[in-house]
Amino acid sequence: MDIKIFDTLKGELVNFVPIKNDSVSMYVCGPTVYNLIHIGNSRPMIVFDAFRRFLEYVGYKVTMVQNFTDIDDKIIIKAVKEGVPFNEISERYIVEYMKDALALRIRTANFHPKTTNYVHEIIKFINELIDKGFAYESAGDVYFDVRKFEQYGMLSHRNPDDMRSGSRIEVSDIKTDPLDFALWKKAKENEPSWESPWGKGRPGWHIECSVMATELLGESFDIHAGGNDLIFPHHENERAQSMAHSGNDFANYWMHNGMIKVAGDKMSKSIGNIWLVRDVVSKYGADTVKVFVLSKHYRVPLDFSEEGLQAQKKSVSRVQQALKDAEDFFAGTVPYVKNTEYMKSKIETFKQALSDDFNTSKAVALIFDLSAELNKALSEKNETHVIENYHLIRNEFGPVLGIFEIQETQQKSSTDDTDKVMQVLIQLRNQARTDKNYTLSDSIRDGLASIGIQLKDTPEGTKYIIQ
Ligand SMILES: [Zn+2]
Repeated sequence: MDIKIFDTLKGELVNFVPIKNDSVSMYVCGPTVYNLIHIGNSRPMIVFDAFRRFLEYVGYKVTMVQNFTDIDDKIIIKAVKEGVPFNEISERYIVEYMKDALALRIRTANFHPKTTNYVHEIIKFINELIDKGFAYESAGDVYFDVRKFEQYGMLSHRNPDDMRSGSRIEVSDIKTDPLDFALWKKAKENEPSWESPWGKGRPGWHIECSVMATELLGESFDIHAGGNDLIFPHHENERAQSMAHSGNDFANYWMHNGMIKVAGDKMSKSIGNIWLVRDVVSKYGADTVKVFVLSKHYRVPLDFSEEGLQAQKKSVSRVQQALKDAEDFFAGTVPYVKNTEYMKSKIETFKQALSDDFNTSKAVALIFDLSAELNKALSEKNETHVIENYHLIRNEFGPVLGIFEIQETQQKSSTDDTDKVMQVLIQLRNQARTDKNYTLSDSIRDGLASIGIQLKDTPEGTKYIIQ
């Protein structure tokens, strides 16, 4: 079966042919860990997790790498603000990222490398670029010499001369060309830094992905993926450094997802239109969030709105209910069935949709159709057809897209109930404290602690942590 994907470098749909017959190597740019992730950040997570699952579904062994950028200006600024070491910030938000990914039921990658664990390899890589004449040291920084790399601009389809004349002329004695970018940044005072041949400093952003991809996947690998806001400069620069370094191709295919927008704007902290992943997941459930994302083709922009989510939640609940009804129909466990002719033809349709530049929108629509078929079979008490449609959704297509894998509704309502009970208890305790009835307030706190629930008084009110 041919898999077609849109390759950003070629600018067209191409047949996907991996370097090795039976396996695929894939690098996805991960987050800079300095705050909680928002729903815009979740699109590449959801899309490329599903794409990886699809590749596995059709028989490839996939090695996936997703990095954490754990040293960066934003992390340093936050650390200074909180008066803590920079790695306390990055470690905290790696843990929070993992929690959100788990709540979304995103599978972990095979490798989640952190930049700071690769500084030695980064320095070596930069040194080799200098030796090969592609980089130069200047006042403690090291820059990539864009003019030396003929293909610069090819990935983002930009002409370097246009970029030079279009950009404001940068007055700089440090760089030889305004397009040159930093591989190594000289440390400012009190900044975290590492020893290097060029003095104390830290890696630039782009070089880390080149080095970690090369270390873990080799100098040439199959797919490099990420949001389309990374095409320039991040991926253009990664490609330039890596190809200059190895003299070979870097990634054979470049896949980019479109942005999630709110009323036409990109979701970003500076605009203040942020929806945190954890808030949206706890309100709507992971299935709804993922179906919302996957029901649109991954390359087109996706408009985020609560109305959109609410509408999607209705369709998602219908599927969840149909699956539950099927389980109840068989008193808990739906019997196993080998693929029937009906199932084989649906599987073919499903694979075809996803082989066509990963058209998850078609695949999700197919699941909705099957859910309607399932309801019909239930009302007609057509056992075979109940079994077929149930397994297609729950065990065949759901796991490929990462949706409808578990019965989500019950799990969510019990969390909601816990929250409601906790709010009542917190109110009771605070009332007891206002009344100076410390025996009661302490016994509520200690009673909760004894079952692993810790109360924390914060400026925003009392919070609880379930351990
Ligand atoms: Zn990257």
